[in-house]
Amino acid sequence: MKTLAIIGSTGSIGNSALKVYKNHKKKFKLIYLCANSNIAKLSKQIKEFKPQNAFLLDDKKIPKNKNLKLLNKNYALRYKQKKIDYVISGVSGYDSLNINLKLVRISKNLLIANKETIICGSNYFLDYAKKNNCNIIPIDSEHYCLNFFIKNFNIQNLIDEVYLVASGGPFLEKKIRYNENVKNVISHPTWKMGKKISVDSSTFANKILELFEAKILFKLNKNKIKILIEKKSNVHAIIKLKNNLYFPIMHKPNMIIAISNSLNVTNYFKMQLENLKIFFKEPDLKKFPIIKLGYKILRNYNNAGALLFTVINQRLVELYLKGKINYGEISHILVKVFKQKKLINLSRKKLNNLNDINRLIEFGQELKL
Ligand code: NDP
Ligand code: MG
Repeated sequence: MKTLAIIGSTGSIGNSALKVYKNHKKKFKLIYLCANSNIAKLSKQIKEFKPQNAFLLDDKKIPKNKNLKLLNKNYALRYKQKKIDYVISGVSGYDSLNINLKLVRISKNLLIANKETIICGSNYFLDYAKKNNCNIIPIDSEHYCLNFFIKNFNIQNLIDEVYLVASGGPFLEKKIRYNENVKNVISHPTWKMGKKISVDSSTFANKILELFEAKILFKLNKNKIKILIEKKSNVHAIIKLKNNLYFPIMHKPNMIIAISNSLNVTNYFKMQLENLKIFFKEPDLKKFPIIKLGYKILRNYNNAGALLFTVINQRLVELYLKGKINYGEISHILVKVFKQKKLINLSRKKLNNLNDINRLIEFGQELKL
């Protein structure tokens, strides 16, 4: 029996992870469930799944109710027992870098959906995981597919180009209004996800974050990673080898596949290949200005630029979700701030250690928008 913990259990990745656990209960001992502040949902999960422990990351929300076993984050994340076999990290946002740095100390395998951590932590995070004998398994569908192929077929040196395939989001074929409402923005045609990633999918910021993540994870040539659109999300990535062979990697658009495969348990999702119609198209750089900005950061700047994009984009998405800016301002302001000399200079810097990373995150948090 393998030990399992799910961090961010109340979110969309957390839900998928719990579905996998439910189907394979005999194979896992569920030792932690963890949410940020959603006590109501966590309480339901505690009742249904009976984890050994459950905790909230927001200390202030821990209730006095003695029937609820909610633990303080320092207790839960401290390395005090045998390493956990599998930890699934489905926390959202760049703030989870600190949580994931703690999780690598207590996990044998960290299944990580959070692209913001890979981008902001960049090589420091990956090296830190290595030092702590923690195997990082990306479960974002594109990166899961790439990781699987690159590792199992030993093709790292043969790769010429990589395409990350996007669904195109809700506005692929619709006009975008500057003051588009949240409901339209987050109604994604093929995936059901948390609010932040859904907004990012609609502006293509999500795909840009994924380009940054792929470059860092797989040490890819920054000029050879591209975005392609396939509306139905059946194809997740395409690898082109130097010998001109192309590997399109397909699976049903369901996060359970990446999660259960990474946990080494079976799942069954058959694609109706005989009915499959696949059309690829290039993204429209005029309609989605964030793509052009993202390519510029990827090709001309260092990982510091990707970090700043991540932090500033998240701030703008949060402002939009709180009703403080218009939808159109997310792209508009993001593109505008990346014209500032200071930001461009900082984007060219190398991130050598955690201090550099934290200082740059702080700069991004405090930048006047
Ligand atoms: P959700 O918003 O649905 O869930 C986020 C989870 O993280 C919740 O459990 C939430 O707790 C917790 N959380 C939120 N903020 C914090 C915080 N500051 N500190 C600690 N915990 C926090 O997000 P998703 O599940 O959609 O996405 C999670 C991550 O996975 C993102 O980085 C996303 O980009 C990535 N991802 C998601 C996919 C998907 O299909 N959803 C696909 C690929 C990648 P609470 O409920 O208490 O607020
Ligand atoms: Mg993805």
